[in-house]
Parts: sequence; structure tokens; C-alpha cells
Amino acid sequence: MRKFCVSFFMTISAMVALAQTQVIAHRGYWKTDGSAENSIRSLVKADTIGCYGSEFDVWMTADGELVVNHDAVVDGICIETAQSKDVRAINLPNGETLPTLKQYLQAGKDCTTRLIFELKPHKNRLLEVKAVIDGIMMVESMGLADRVEYITFSASALEEIIKYAPKGTPVYYLNGEKTPQELHKLGAAGMDYNLRVLKKHPEWIKESHDLGMKVNVWTVNKEEDMKWCIEQGIDFITTNEPELLQKLLKK
Ligand code: MG
Repeated sequence: MRKFCVSFFMTISAMVALAQTQVIAHRGYWKTDGSAENSIRSLVKADTIGCYGSEFDVWMTADGELVVNHDAVVDGICIETAQSKDVRAINLPNGETLPTLKQYLQAGKDCTTRLIFELKPHKNRLLEVKAVIDGIMMVESMGLADRVEYITFSASALEEIIKYAPKGTPVYYLNGEKTPQELHKLGAAGMDYNLRVLKKHPEWIKESHDLGMKVNVWTVNKEEDMKWCIEQGIDFITTNEPELLQKLLKK
């Protein structure tokens, strides 16, 4: 009887873990026809397949335009020291031009997927602070405050986003060195760490949950790693393979 109860509860807890894990498309859903990383198409594709969220990267140009792209330097142009008109002229591999944050959020208004806004660490600290404040103000002015979750590698931006975003806005830290207790003290919603970090510190998952925080992990693309994360009860998996993860979660 005891054995039955233990396995019954293990099955139930596995099911709860399965039900809880959510899919976040890393840089949108870009590994599909007509898409490209951080393109508006990748956001729409992530929404179409029903992802919980679609992640994208945000930089500010030297003249104060917020734009969406992963790399600091594209086609030899360093975004944070370039002018907006030069950055906006860059073509993405799918033929779109590199989107401004405003264009990207505008497309997000027609979607239901959550918008996972990564604020990139800028070399120019003042520009980074301006990017935080302008980004939050733009999200609010477009009526998207309750659809956006923020993530960042920058420890200073983490504190600033928590300070300036509306109370209760989820803000996660990416860089991997802060403990759940440290993040809780700062008022973060939780950690969004590399898979290697969570494999090294699996105890941080339970510690985060015990503190009422959530755990996100990146970038998990292999089936065996996805299964490990699901079994650990990780709340969000950020992946380049959202359809593979959805299939595993449905099993
Ligand atoms: Mg990112």
C-alpha cells in the first residue's frame, strides 16, 4: 500500500510539474519558414503556435531609439554607438528590416503570447539607464504593462527595472551568480539561468519555489535536457525548439 501511495504521489507530482512548465520561444520562433531571430515574424510565429512567451533582445542606439536585436554589432554597426536611421536600415535574414521596439510591441498588441523583454547590458551605463526607463514607459504607453516580463544580465538594470516598472511586474535575472535568497531580497520574480548553472545548483529550484519565486532556464534545445527541466519542476523553459518542447509537454 505504501509503495502504491508513494508511486501515486510521484505520478501526481510529475503531472503537476508537467502542467506547470511553460514554453518561451528564444528570440521568437525563428527556426521556421520565413522567420529570423528577433524578427516580427518570429514573434507572430511564437504566438501562432501558442507559446506562453516570446523572448526578444532590446538595445538603445546612441540617439535614443530602442531597437530589437541580439548582437551588439550587426553588419559592422555597433548599435549603442550608431544612429537610429543606420540601425533601422539593416536587413534581417528573412528580408524584414531590423525592428524598432515600438514596431515590435505594436505587433505584440495583436498577439496573446507574453512579451519577454531582455534589456541588453550596454557599455554606456547612462544609455542603459535611459533604455530601462524609456522601455518601461513605452510598454506602459502602449497598454502592454500586464503582458511584459523583463529579463537582464545587467545587475544594475535588474535593480532599476524592479524600481521603475509597475509593482508586481515579473523581473528575472540571467547572469547566474546570484542565489535565490539574494534575488528575493532584491524583489526579483526569480532566476532565468543557463541550464549549466541549474544543473550545478539544482537545489536553487526548490529554494526559489519556497521563497515564492519562479525559475526559468535557457537555452534548452535537446529533448533529454527538456525532460530533466520538466522533472525538476522548472516553471519556464526558453528554447529554440518550442514545438519539440510542446510535444514533450503534451505526452
Ligand atoms: Mg536574449
